[in-house]
Amino acid sequence: MTETKSTCCYCGVGCGVVIESEGGQVVGVRGDADHPANFGRLCSKGSTLHLSADARIQQQVRALYPEMRAPSAGRDQTRQRSDWDTVIATMAGKFTDTIKTHGPDSVAFYISGQLLTEDYYVFNKLAKGLVGTNNIDSNSRLCMSSAVAGYKQTLGADAPPACYEDIDLAEVIFIVGSNTAYAHPILYRRLEQAREKNPDLKVIVADPRRTDTAREADLFLPILPGTDVALFNGMLHLCLWEDLIDLDYIQAHTEGFAELKQTVRDYTPAAVAKTCGIKEADLVQAARWFGQSKASLSLYCQGLNQSSAGTAKNAALINLHLATHQIGKPGAGPFSLTGQPNAMGGREVGGMANLMSGHRDLSNAEHRAEIAAYWGVDDVPAAPGKTAVEMFEAVRLGEIKIIWIVCTNPAQSMPEQNLIREALQKAELVIVQEAYASTATVPYADILLPASTWAEKTGTVTNSERRISRVRPVIPAPGEARHDWQIASQFAQALAPLLGKSAVNFAYDSDEQVWNEHRDSTRGRDLDITGLSYAILEQQGPQQWPYPAGASTGKQRLYEDGIFPTVSGRARFINTVYQPVKDAVDARYPFSLNTGRLRDQWHGMSRTGTVAQLFAHVAEPGISMEATDMQRRFLKPGDLVHVSSRRGTVILPIVESDEQRAGQVFVAMHWGEEYVSGRGHAQNASYGVNALTSPAIDPSSKQPELKAAAVKILKAELP
Ligand code: SF4
Repeated sequence: MTETKSTCCYCGVGCGVVIESEGGQVVGVRGDADHPANFGRLCSKGSTLHLSADARIQQQVRALYPEMRAPSAGRDQTRQRSDWDTVIATMAGKFTDTIKTHGPDSVAFYISGQLLTEDYYVFNKLAKGLVGTNNIDSNSRLCMSSAVAGYKQTLGADAPPACYEDIDLAEVIFIVGSNTAYAHPILYRRLEQAREKNPDLKVIVADPRRTDTAREADLFLPILPGTDVALFNGMLHLCLWEDLIDLDYIQAHTEGFAELKQTVRDYTPAAVAKTCGIKEADLVQAARWFGQSKASLSLYCQGLNQSSAGTAKNAALINLHLATHQIGKPGAGPFSLTGQPNAMGGREVGGMANLMSGHRDLSNAEHRAEIAAYWGVDDVPAAPGKTAVEMFEAVRLGEIKIIWIVCTNPAQSMPEQNLIREALQKAELVIVQEAYASTATVPYADILLPASTWAEKTGTVTNSERRISRVRPVIPAPGEARHDWQIASQFAQALAPLLGKSAVNFAYDSDEQVWNEHRDSTRGRDLDITGLSYAILEQQGPQQWPYPAGASTGKQRLYEDGIFPTVSGRARFINTVYQPVKDAVDARYPFSLNTGRLRDQWHGMSRTGTVAQLFAHVAEPGISMEATDMQRRFLKPGDLVHVSSRRGTVILPIVESDEQRAGQVFVAMHWGEEYVSGRGHAQNASYGVNALTSPAIDPSSKQPELKAAAVKILKAELP
């Protein structure tokens, strides 16, 4: 039996795994005791990875060969098996014709935080360098883009300042908008251990739901959906009133406090308690614990990010940390928990519509010129490309003719599914590059490109604490599946001569060669990793960035010197004001719908759905509702109800739950093909909870508000 170290492919904790393989099969997996993210622990998903890689299951669910519909065939015709040379040549020809006729912005790439950094790098260079469009966005837009915008606006760079060790060192841990026990289980276990060692450690949880994380808190603030900015401003108001701010730190290391101070005057405890729907005494207690402690650490995730005010929520929380000097010291800091395994790597290479390689600024002409010269192209376009929601709308409107979807499932995960599916129907060419043939998006593919996946791929990922880990292969990809970066580079080599840009290099021999090119592009940037190499990762294990040339180790936490990567070197307070959710409840749609993860499932279940054990926790979809709401509507557990928003209807069984307050309901995001009918488009179509969710987006981060939609609930009359 062979043992190979790699990284779990599920969440952004980035746990190290040891894969056991024998005879070309994955036969087991265990936690890597040497990996600093998990020290040998794995959660239910990570510890069953080997089952998801079972060869018999893989043969049933995987995309194995390139497939293509005949050029004149409609979407109702089945795709035929093809070969790589034919599909790549067809794609290159179609891209060339479309770009020459309609310009480079008539094509788009929608990629994924599941991709490795090397994959992300080549796709980004293909779109922005070779094709000449910034129409490349990622499903990370649905996940972390508000955190990116929050960090950049306040601290000057998209760089989480804290690290996992801060969980052990904190005196107060403020968990907000995160069911850490379910979504980042190994970090939550670390928190439980820290509590055992330090009985004085206080845990505050702010969340509309009484989740398993909230139940264990010392103080739970069941805030009303979307009221986070009011909460943070209210806590800052109290810290000001009770002299818990650090004026010396504010004066020496920040700017913009006076304006914010004026704003938070209005966030009195009574007003904030009313807005947030919490007890005033609890608000006061939270502010005191946070402000008085020597080290307060905030852990936050989609509750802040998936919001039409996501950037303001992130900035308001960081304001609180800056004002109380809870940043840049052990055990303290704002710490966004990354949803996907490599959303961070995607951000590092700039693989999104508004980002640039190495955390450069797309609006900065010098930065664009630097990268254009590095890639050997004339320029990189200045205007930001279409972000996820905008991209599919542009496809629907016919502005984007070709969309290439890589390792993600927008026909389940994007909000307002009616419009997404209409877009996929209308596109002139849909290319889907996927490991799994079973996703809801695959039927829309005119060309299906089979991709390799976990246990087959080689490259790197970066976790929430900026730690780069190696992903290593143990088995060959099945059928004719290829690595994502290889597919992109083969296509680029076919396209370049047709566009007259043969000089742009895409002839990579290995993932290491791609990574080295990415690494060298970070020189002098805040995330400089020019001192790192695959050899160092091999010898010394996973490393945090920055790791500049000459360094012998990465940097555990940032801003300990109080110098921030802004023009002035000071952190910036952002004057944040509370804005209610966009899709507000009213008499017609009286319930606020929240969505989120379950403990044992991942995204659209293309992988976890193949592991029977992972259904033992929750076997089927349902809508969680509070008991008095059920009684008022004469509903009992198991009753089927029509759940309707202003955009669509889903039919789900009722699950009684005390997690929500009256007036709120919850549906897990994982199921997509059940119980649904659309808004006049396709009755009995099956779109999952995202038939209901709102496409309202944050004005800065462009992240959609997946966590707040107004719905009505009516008992379904069965025939
Ligand atoms: Fe994998 Fe995340 Fe579980 Fe770790 S916590 S084993 S990275 S799913």
